[in-house]
Amino acid sequence: MLGSGSAGNATLLERGDQRVLIDVGLSYREVARRLDSIAVSPASIGAVVITHAHGDHTRGAALFSRRHGVPVHTTAATRAVWSDATVSSWRDLRCDTPTDICGFHFTPLEVSHDAAAATVAFQIGTPDGAIGFATDVGVVTPLLRARFRDCRVLVMESNHATDLLRVGPYARSTKVRISSARGHLSNESLAVFVREDLGRSVRCLVLAHLSRVNNVPEIAEMTCREALEASGRHDVRVVVSRQDRVAESVDLGSWAAPRRPGASAGRQVALPF
Ligand SMILES: [Zn+2]
Ligand SMILES: [Zn+2]
Repeated sequence: MLGSGSAGNATLLERGDQRVLIDVGLSYREVARRLDSIAVSPASIGAVVITHAHGDHTRGAALFSRRHGVPVHTTAATRAVWSDATVSSWRDLRCDTPTDICGFHFTPLEVSHDAAAATVAFQIGTPDGAIGFATDVGVVTPLLRARFRDCRVLVMESNHATDLLRVGPYARSTKVRISSARGHLSNESLAVFVREDLGRSVRCLVLAHLSRVNNVPEIAEMTCREALEASGRHDVRVVVSRQDRVAESVDLGSWAAPRRPGASAGRQVALPF
């Protein structure tokens, strides 16, 4: 997670020399700076994928696309409402239709959020297991529960602490919007998902899109850890993404299935694409 929160989101996926950015919601300059800080050249990015047309997900995307000649993958509906963007080229994503992007198998899933056009989450298939990616979701829908069950890593929104939002400085109408089913997921709602629906194959939860005003990283982490503890899940790593800096990286290969003696490499790995 190069950065995540209400002030801008960008995530790097890397496999060998193939690299994809999900959302470029920080400025181009800031994304380039953060990539440099982890020794990744912006010129090595092969594609940009956009979840929805809110500025905290698109801010630097058009310039990034033009400067590096990379396509922007998003739904036709998001492209239509993001009409002022001049990008190198567009690639349309369709919900529930898998698409190969630089070796990652993206399946967009429509989620409940209040962008002008549909917001999507992703199930991302890789040979080392699948990633579930949902950063702006008012509620965890049955579709997300089903598609995220067999993932190895989940990147999920933990936007606000319900108490902090209630007593915080936002206008009442904004508070209603954030806490609605088309707003943002609270720490507590994520905890309910963790207790009731977390798949047995999940080995890492990345908390994303934390509000700087209505959340505290330590509270978000504690709420998630308590839910894991309550369900006896001691096998799940928790990573908290940050607004102002790159988070610790997550290596899917570290949870690869152990090889049976004598089995051939080609037969051991079930590819959950
Ligand atoms: Zn949004
Ligand atoms: Zn957002």
